[in-house]
Amino acid sequence: MRDLNRISIITDALNECWTSFPDLRFGQLIELIFRERWSDFWLLEDDACLETIRKFREENKVRYIASNDSHSNPPNSAADPRPNNKPFYIDPNCPKCGTALVLNDFVEKSRTEEEIWHDEFTCPKCRDGIYMDWPESHRQAIEED
Ligand SMILES: [Zn+2]
Repeated sequence: MRDLNRISIITDALNECWTSFPDLRFGQLIELIFRERWSDFWLLEDDACLETIRKFREENKVRYIASNDSHSNPPNSAADPRPNNKPFYIDPNCPKCGTALVLNDFVEKSRTEEEIWHDEFTCPKCRDGIYMDWPESHRQAIEED
């Protein structure tokens, strides 16, 4: 029989991830963590599973810490993390389907930690574009240019 202890080790790791990003649905969390392992997910051994969960947690730690700084001022650039990693200025939900928007870098994973753009959000369901988290005045200024 497989080691029973692995169950709580894995679920604890998952719990830690999920509580870091409580606005994700369970399915969204699982997809984000395991998207690169989908092809062999069924056969994925539990130690590899745990490693994948921990890797995800480690890669997203900076964002998590930043998101928990409740004393932060309104964000004023792409480098400023948004509270709880949610849009500060725009509707936090997708205008098309209502799903909570997430950081684009969170979904694309195309940048390194130093290059996270905290003003780019995307719908994890529609995956059809980027919503810029800018104040209304900033957006008007851009449109007038
Ligand atoms: Zn959507």
